[in-house]
Amino acid sequence: MINVTKTYLPNRVMYKKYVDEIFDSNWITNRGKMVQTLEKKLEKYLNVKNLLLVSNGTMALQVAYKLLNLKGDIITTPFSFVATTSSIVWEGLNPVFVDINRNSLCIDADKIKEKITDKTSAIVATHVYGNCCDVNKIKEIADENNLKVIYDAAHGFNVTMSGKSILDFGDISTLSFHATKIFHTIEGGALIIKDDDLYEKAKKIINFGFSSKGTIECLGINAKMNEFQGAMGLCLLEEVENQIKKRKHIYYKYRSKLKGTKHISIYEYEQGLCPNYSYFPIILDSEELLLKVISKLNDNHINPRRYFYPSLNNLEYVKKQKMEISEDISKRILCLPIYGDLEEECVEKIICVIKECTL
Ligand SMILES: *Cc1c(COP(=O)(O)O)cnc(C)c1O
Repeated sequence: MINVTKTYLPNRVMYKKYVDEIFDSNWITNRGKMVQTLEKKLEKYLNVKNLLLVSNGTMALQVAYKLLNLKGDIITTPFSFVATTSSIVWEGLNPVFVDINRNSLCIDADKIKEKITDKTSAIVATHVYGNCCDVNKIKEIADENNLKVIYDAAHGFNVTMSGKSILDFGDISTLSFHATKIFHTIEGGALIIKDDDLYEKAKKIINFGFSSKGTIECLGINAKMNEFQGAMGLCLLEEVENQIKKRKHIYYKYRSKLKGTKHISIYEYEQGLCPNYSYFPIILDSEELLLKVISKLNDNHINPRRYFYPSLNNLEYVKKQKMEISEDISKRILCLPIYGDLEEECVEKIICVIKECTL
């Protein structure tokens, strides 16, 4: 079975060397050498400061809300992975959805203002497929209304907009390093925190509120990354550039062959964006056609993914809010398999099956 993605594992000998080092040190968690080294290397590679590794991307979001002391209503996008919404609800906050822009599929900044009330404390937006939200307009609205801004940048690893890391926007950006992501630490995630004092506080929050002196200084949680995760990250960071290059090749293969095909549109990035080629989404003319394409691909042992589906405003545990564009797009969007060692032949097969369906 060819799935939408395949977990990339590093060179086994290299990982074993790190494991030996961990065994020799007898230090397996609590900000050990691996995690600290990976933090520094990631800051350098991604060109950001104040990067803090945590246990997973969902926890990164939850820690971000606590850190910024969010209350009441949170303006957010219905078109994202479920964790963007569930983390808000889990923290006792109320998600207020704003529909997406039909091109970028990110939150429509022009529709945010009308949803702001005196109960709103923040905007939580997702850089969908690593595409950049309308960060300038969102900043303007947030500044005018005294709101915090958090970007779920789980798809934004190593993505730049006009040469600048997209992790640089908002008060906090979060990353996920889950095994399915382009760069992973088995499970894992990170916060990138603008404010230096908040960064210092975050280090305590993720470790039960303990200060470096061992005193309990604030309410905290356990969101620490361990050394084996750190070691995985150190190995994969060496190879990620090559993985991105291989994905780019597949991305352009799909693109050149599928662009202009009747009943299909290709998802386009904003001008100035340098993507990481993590996803290849296509938008079919109807849900019926999408189901047909999935079924035919499944017949050929190929498993694309409806990502994102359903639109998050339809989750059972949120107040019903109609989101026309997000609901429409989530019914028709499909992510095709893309990963470094996906064989050329397989890409050809996928293209061929899709073209047959659209005749
Ligand atoms: C993967 C993902 C998450 C969740 O990250 P985990 O590390 O799996 O907890 C959150 N938001 C988006 C957009 C994601 O793609």
